Amino acid sequence: MRLATYLERTAPAEPHLGIVLGGYVVNVRAAARELRLGEMPDDMLGFIEAGQGALEIAREIDAPIAADATHTLPLADVRLIAPIPNPRRNLVCIGLNYGEHVAESQSVVGGDAPKFPVFFTKPPSTVIGPDDEIPWHAHVSTAIDWEVELAVIIGRQGGDIAEADALEYVFGYTVANDVTARDLQGRHQQWYKGKGLDGFCPLGPSVLTADEVPDPQQLELRLSVNGVEKQSSNTRFMIFPVARLIAEWSAGMTLFPGDVLLTGTPSGVGIGRKPPEFLKPGDVVEAEVSPIGVLRNRVATG
Ligand code: ZN
Repeated sequence: MRLATYLERTAPAEPHLGIVLGGYVVNVRAAARELRLGEMPDDMLGFIEAGQGALEIAREIDAPIAADATHTLPLADVRLIAPIPNPRRNLVCIGLNYGEHVAESQSVVGGDAPKFPVFFTKPPSTVIGPDDEIPWHAHVSTAIDWEVELAVIIGRQGGDIAEADALEYVFGYTVANDVTARDLQGRHQQWYKGKGLDGFCPLGPSVLTADEVPDPQQLELRLSVNGVEKQSSNTRFMIFPVARLIAEWSAGMTLFPGDVLLTGTPSGVGIGRKPPEFLKPGDVVEAEVSPIGVLRNRVATG
């Protein structure tokens, strides 16, 4: 099932939770009422927290529905926003999780491949949605780089999760662009600031539920800038797979439904290129994890 958070173009004040079906989005709450399936949350976090029961009701809705049904809108009539537009906690991220990216980073800053996952976080204020503009913070940095990543959304509360059980805690997957100000990342040593500026975490366009991703280590990743491919890899090249990351993250730390994990980027980032390349105002960045989706964002012009 493909879930999204959307605004109706005619009534954009209130976000809604939808199931994306072909060229349409079905309002989960309205459809559940109409089909007399029960009262459903109208937001992604509420839906994730409602657990298995909500998923089962949504599956009953997730079937072809006539385009003229009152609870169904053509995708052209809505604007998708970040699936979780306001995460409750920082997004947890992994650095240096693809061998070739470690190599290109070593060529810039040195260091060895990590023996344990490198954790850092991005604050909730970094999150923007598909088609939102990446802010241009020219007074702070002009060395702004791209990083396509598989993002994992946690579905159940848990701590000390065994690697063998870890994927049972995943609600679904989406695409992230871990936008990074490379000069700040270097200047502050610690990565929170260089990766934490407003708008530095495009997320979306939708969430593919875990049941439709039997193996998260077999997903193609791609990123292009103005149509020119910069990154192309596969999640099978992760140094620490998703299950290991969840096990390490949850050791002695409670994970909550709706927590988001960014799993690292493959090689091909701007800082690793010779000469280095950075984003400019007006550039269009397309980050893709197949079959989850394409996340497209333009860099603001000022
Ligand atoms: Zn990253």
